[in-house]
Amino acid sequence: MSARDELFFSPKNAYEIMSEAEVAECFAYAEGYKKYLSAAKTERLAVKEAVKLAEARGFKPFEYGKTYAPGDKVYDVNRGKALTLAVIGKQPMSAGVNIAGAHVDAPRVDLKQMPLYEDSQMAFFKTHYYGGIRKYQWVTIPLELHGTVAKRDGSVIDISIGAEPGEPQFIISDLLPHLAGDQGKKPLNEAFSGEGLNILIGSIPDKEEGADRVKLAIMKILNEKYGIIEEDFLSAEIEAVPAYPARDIGLDRSLIGGYGHDDRVCAYAELAAIMDTENPEKTAVCLLVDKEEVGSQGVSGMMSTHFDRFMEALCKAEGTSVYDCYANSVCLSADVCNAYDPNFPEVSEKRNNCQLNYGIGIIKFTGSRGKSGSNDASAEMVGRVRKLMNDNNVVWQMGELGKVDQGGGGTIAYLMGNRDIDTIDAGVPVLNMHAPMEVISKADAYMTYRGFKAMYNSCI
Ligand code: MN
Ligand code: MN
Repeated sequence: MSARDELFFSPKNAYEIMSEAEVAECFAYAEGYKKYLSAAKTERLAVKEAVKLAEARGFKPFEYGKTYAPGDKVYDVNRGKALTLAVIGKQPMSAGVNIAGAHVDAPRVDLKQMPLYEDSQMAFFKTHYYGGIRKYQWVTIPLELHGTVAKRDGSVIDISIGAEPGEPQFIISDLLPHLAGDQGKKPLNEAFSGEGLNILIGSIPDKEEGADRVKLAIMKILNEKYGIIEEDFLSAEIEAVPAYPARDIGLDRSLIGGYGHDDRVCAYAELAAIMDTENPEKTAVCLLVDKEEVGSQGVSGMMSTHFDRFMEALCKAEGTSVYDCYANSVCLSADVCNAYDPNFPEVSEKRNNCQLNYGIGIIKFTGSRGKSGSNDASAEMVGRVRKLMNDNNVVWQMGELGKVDQGGGGTIAYLMGNRDIDTIDAGVPVLNMHAPMEVISKADAYMTYRGFKAMYNSCI
């Protein structure tokens, strides 16, 4: 071995490392993930699909107050929007647990509470976008609608239009280039306004004389299909999301394009990893939470004490304090990072940026303007994770989100760190994150699954 080989650190492309059998397993894993991503278009659907998969693998609804034995598999749904799964370990809760925590909400366009209006004999839905979107990316793409409506009579129904073949879809219009001269002169972030993101939903006027005949015709269709009246929109959550399934990208099929990789690619990796975990030494916990894209607040976000209640219940059953459990636990905050994009080299510092196909991205710190808001994992914690990945032949890399002072971002990591749980960010690098069509590498998704599985099956 040369001095260079011995002393230099040289990250490698996963395809230089993986065996043929591993590549085959990686591509098979990607098929399962694409299916999940195509179905999990909203946080509620992501939870629903995860429960379906987990139940098929023997997970049972968690019963508060019940005592569980090593090997038991449970799940706890929080208001249909967040999910905690656990496989009970041989060691007591006081020894700490192994947690992977991802989020299942994604940037999108939500309907306002009074969305429906007519203008120029066209009917539209007013919207208020959710999370960090680049507005220009959301016009002239096919959209589907998913949501939940709490009706006047107290009943609650789910709505889904546009996902099934043959169903109509929706669109937000944009100017033709012929008339876009003035718009084109505006800065990109100002050329499209939030109030301008109105979804076209119909154009045939009702036969009944009077005002708003197209709106009336649309209301009649909705009433016939779902039994709803306009007032029901007030107590509804309806989300417009890109209307296409995930699919392979590239002639070599090495990449996956789809909506919502952030962060369902990590959510699925955790889920697949915990479903493949039998009789772990320490209790394995898989967290899928909501509201990360808007700051993690609220009952279904990571700031909610719902997670603590679940952990406290497991601890109480064996007479342990949840604080003792947390102090001995570790958490991989499973969220995506940016993949280096050679089309935009100016925003990244290449030496310290994650790259497609180089495996699970470990991020010591996030934040912006001098690591502000970051969890910033300790050297010791990085060391433990580094050893875990190396010992288990997981291809991994280390990165940070762009150049210093270029921007930045956050995850749920600090909220786990605040709970006295040693936490580090770990996840899949994404090209054009938050776009309606994000791109990830199959090798990175697969290595992320392998990394989480290694954690669940170790005492790191
Ligand atoms: Mn994320
Ligand atoms: Mn995000």
